[in-house]
Amino acid sequence: MTNPDTYEIHAVRYATSPDRKRFHNCLHCATADVHDAMPMDFYVWVIRNAERTIVVDTGSREWKCKQRGHVFIRSPVEGLAALDVSPEQADDVIVTHLHWDHAGNIDAFDRAQVHLTHAEMRNVTSQDMADPTINAFFLADDVCTVVRRLFEGRVSFSSGDRDIAPGVSVHEVGGHSAGMQVVRVYTRRGWVVLASDATHFYANYRDRNPFPVLFNFQDMVTGWDRCLELADSPDHVVPGHDPAVLRRYPPVSGTLDGDAVRLDLDPISA
Ligand SMILES: [Zn+2]
Repeated sequence: MTNPDTYEIHAVRYATSPDRKRFHNCLHCATADVHDAMPMDFYVWVIRNAERTIVVDTGSREWKCKQRGHVFIRSPVEGLAALDVSPEQADDVIVTHLHWDHAGNIDAFDRAQVHLTHAEMRNVTSQDMADPTINAFFLADDVCTVVRRLFEGRVSFSSGDRDIAPGVSVHEVGGHSAGMQVVRVYTRRGWVVLASDATHFYANYRDRNPFPVLFNFQDMVTGWDRCLELADSPDHVVPGHDPAVLRRYPPVSGTLDGDAVRLDLDPISA
């Protein structure tokens, strides 16, 4: 059997939330640790080789981050540009789920085919969105952008597992949102899984302690096992919001003040 294509993966931080506590990020807390500091970062990812550029999630905008009380660092589009990835270069945009912090700049990626799950799209166009408690995690404008793109014939929906390109596949896990999907990528160090919000932090899956925003508890738990099954080792699973990612992986030298790291290279610290 021939090896699949091999890719570089970059994680790019675009926002941060330095004042969060453990109770914001973990469903189960002990009295002793409930108020422990647990900052959160916000990322987009790019998967690329000589033939193909795939953007995973498109982040958010400054006004929305501010409205939610987070610190905006730079536009994800500018962050990618610093890595020489212009929006026109993106062949594909994989949207892991449609929450406001993951689906905010899809319109900038004009040429790309957008990939998301049937379950996610159905949910964001369902009666559920009439409830402000539920729709608070989404922006109607982001959903409308996807609908417009659909009318141009440039959205692909999937259920379960699907190949996006040789060496890149998506896997529906649900849990955090109705149709949450994770991305599996073949790299020089083997199969890496971009878990996005299937696990916000290393602590969520390591301690089997979910992030408190849940669509389906059971699916969240089985989603962790699925990530571990798809990855070559626990070190090959990359959480969606953990500041430790920037410390664990080699920085992309000279760009973005340490806000970009290489996930296709071995971790530099445990
Ligand atoms: Zn998120």
